[in-house]
Amino acid sequence: MTAWHEWGELLKVPASALPSFKQMCAGQAPRPEDGDSPASLRVLLVDDDATTRHMLEGVLGDSLGHTVQSAGSGEEALATALQFMPQVVVTDWLMPGMSGIELCRALRATDWGQTIYIIMLSGIDTRDEATEAFEAGADDFVAKPVDLRTLRARLRAAWRYVHLLDAWETDRAQLRQFAAELAISNRRLSHAAMTDQLTGLPNRRAGMSELEKAWSASGRAAQPMAVLIIDVDHFKRINDSYGHAVGDHVLREVAQTLQQSARREDVVCRLGGEEFLMVCTNTDLRAALGAGERLRKLVAALAIKVGGHEIQLSISIGIAAREASMTDADMLVNAADRALYRAKEGGRNRSCICLQGQLRCGPWQAG
Ligand code: GH3
Ligand code: MG
Ligand code: MG
Repeated sequence: MTAWHEWGELLKVPASALPSFKQMCAGQAPRPEDGDSPASLRVLLVDDDATTRHMLEGVLGDSLGHTVQSAGSGEEALATALQFMPQVVVTDWLMPGMSGIELCRALRATDWGQTIYIIMLSGIDTRDEATEAFEAGADDFVAKPVDLRTLRARLRAAWRYVHLLDAWETDRAQLRQFAAELAISNRRLSHAAMTDQLTGLPNRRAGMSELEKAWSASGRAAQPMAVLIIDVDHFKRINDSYGHAVGDHVLREVAQTLQQSARREDVVCRLGGEEFLMVCTNTDLRAALGAGERLRKLVAALAIKVGGHEIQLSISIGIAAREASMTDADMLVNAADRALYRAKEGGRNRSCICLQGQLRCGPWQAG
């Protein structure tokens, strides 16, 4: 119980405080006839004998204040139950056609009939009879002729059961809603953990995970793959000349250009600062170089308008494709990193490749 309340607080689920055990022992059990409690139950009364039916209708409805509907047979009871959704069924055992026992089994076979409180009435009161009724799914067994006090006491048990069930269902609904909210918030959190805040691109962590996935897939399918490491040239100067906010704006524009011009199956992520990684599945070195050159030219053609300035910039790109001698994705990235370094050394605004340890740089022949 204590744990339940701690959980309740943690999960922000309202868990009503329970009275102490002592209070519970001393306290009064709730009674259907207590003034302010919603004591009225929906009771379906089933008996083939009209006289008994009328008598019980009077007892259940007029004397005890329940909402009663009655049926003269098991078949009629089933049809009525579907619409009336009784909380309690009081049924006679021996009836022509469907017996009380059969009605009981039929109700228990449905989804909605599982939680109905079923009281079986029978003129034959033996231990065997009662056992059979309970085995068929009845909750209680009352001998006929039924007297008012017994029925009243039995209905009190039914009432308590119905109310516990209600409380349980309310709790369950709350927990279900909470679980749904938790799932949504988890999804949001994991998305946030994988996303670069400034550019909205996948972040380094997400990029590394995509890289590993692509590496495994290319190994399995014996397909080529390539990576491009892209670094903005002299970005520090942009910050220094126009301020950090403008620098941020420029980074967002570059990120957008990279993402929009990448193929759908390529993943572009921001490694950090002004450095990006593009993972290309099913792509050989030649195709990767083609993609890199296209990106490079697109960025070089940008004229980013921000804060009354028009900023032009370029990127350098290091490119490598998976080779048989590479044992993991790190080796591939290292090769691309070396190529990037060479591109910077070579004067920037260019793409360089690393092929079997050899570095080669543009300018490249178009095509
Ligand atoms: P190079 O051509 O050699 O790459 O020169 P560079 O100036 O681009 O490279 P360097 O690594 O010297 O400087 C990168 C700069 O990027 C320094 C850092 O302040 C800036 N930077 C890193 N992250 C951010 C960011 O999120 N926003 C802004 N505005 N600037 C950033
Ligand atoms: Mg740079
Ligand atoms: Mg850099």
